[in-house]
Amino acid sequence: MDFEMDEEMISAINKAKEFAEKYFTEELADKMDREEQFPMELLNYSNREGLMDYSNPWKILVTIEELCRKDPGLGISTTVPAFGSEVLMLYGSDMLKEKYLDPVLKGQKIMGLAVTEPGGGSDVASSKTEAKLEGDYYILNGAKMFITNGGIADYFVVLARTSPPPSPDKRHRGMSVFIVESKWEGFKANKIHGKMGVRATNTAELVFENVRVPKENLVGEEGKGFYYIMTFFNISRIYVAAQGLGVAQGILDRLMEHIKKYGPVNSQGEPIENIQFKLAEIATRIEASRGLTYKAASYLFKFNPNPVLTSMAKYYSGETAILASKVAMEIMGLKALNSELERFYRDARILEIWEGTSEIEKLIISRMMLKGGK
Ligand SMILES: Cc1cc2nc3c(=O)[nH]c(=O)nc-3n(C[C@H](O)[C@H](O)[C@H](O)COP(=O)(O)OP(=O)(O)OC[C@H]3O[C@@H](n4cnc5c(N)ncnc54)[C@H](O)[C@@H]3O)c2cc1C
Repeated sequence: MDFEMDEEMISAINKAKEFAEKYFTEELADKMDREEQFPMELLNYSNREGLMDYSNPWKILVTIEELCRKDPGLGISTTVPAFGSEVLMLYGSDMLKEKYLDPVLKGQKIMGLAVTEPGGGSDVASSKTEAKLEGDYYILNGAKMFITNGGIADYFVVLARTSPPPSPDKRHRGMSVFIVESKWEGFKANKIHGKMGVRATNTAELVFENVRVPKENLVGEEGKGFYYIMTFFNISRIYVAAQGLGVAQGILDRLMEHIKKYGPVNSQGEPIENIQFKLAEIATRIEASRGLTYKAASYLFKFNPNPVLTSMAKYYSGETAILASKVAMEIMGLKALNSELERFYRDARILEIWEGTSEIEKLIISRMMLKGGK
């Protein structure tokens, strides 16, 4: 067993650090948050500098961590333009990969993944969006909610029902995945305004009204969509865990800086006995989250995913980031409210929501353990 990072990972971390130092200015982070704007120019810099090396998932993981450490909103926006692409990588035909995956991985096009519906996100099998085969086209009708990159993506990976469930306890059957282009007739994206956090990411409601999807844009086999999406979540949860690690570490960095400057006192200058305890607790939780995340990643990246570890990593690192943001607020008081930590506090909340809420992760862990899964 070896806990040392190899040269390639160290150089990816350094590259991400330099990138964030150079482009993630406080002015940009504040402006994108305040104006709820996606920082499109960062994608140009990221493409130019080859920041996202999709050939090595470890490099992607540590890049996400480092960028979120500097700023969660800008960090997530810069690393999310290929969101959903793993579904195509795993299950897409050669034609779909060439047409849609290649330009996304080259940074020429943006992708999104549309699963959640206005009626709820946790119960994926209850999706109502429908695709009916008519000749050479599926006719797509329905709506999706809270879709990242919703207003800026060129392509979406969309989950839709293609046949009724065979019985009420088999609702996950009869669902399929399609690639849908945002320029097609009948597609509409309504940007969501006023989010609490990650306001630099673009989030939208998607509406599909008789969108004609060519038959060849079905990904993999009809009826297997639910399983494809669950497999995708096993990948994306690792990257959300990396977001959590970065956010928690970024808060700890700033908290340490504050304590070194002002000593172990609260915002009124009064000594707080247990500041050292809180600092130690957060640092320990971050290290534990990192251990979990890297362990889960090492299984996944060897094509042997361990969903129990993945869910543990996802919920624990999100929870750690939220706890760190709360502790930083308590210790630094007004100094935190008047700094970028206020944004970290708001941004951290999403980590317990997307890609499965903490409750859902805990259900997966206990269900799989009781079933004897790893
Ligand atoms: C900013 C943002 C970006 C997002 N991006 C995307 C995206 O790109 N693509 C996409 O498809 N979705 C996206 N989502 C949706 C996200 O995945 C869902 O919000 C999430 O899955 C939770 O679904 P929900 O909000 O409908 O809550 P619900 O599913 O309605 O859950 C509400 C509450 O009930 C709890 N709960 C639900 N079921 C159970 C249960 N069985 N047992 C115990 N507790 C339960 C949940 O934990 C939660 O606390 C995004 C959401 C946000 C806020």
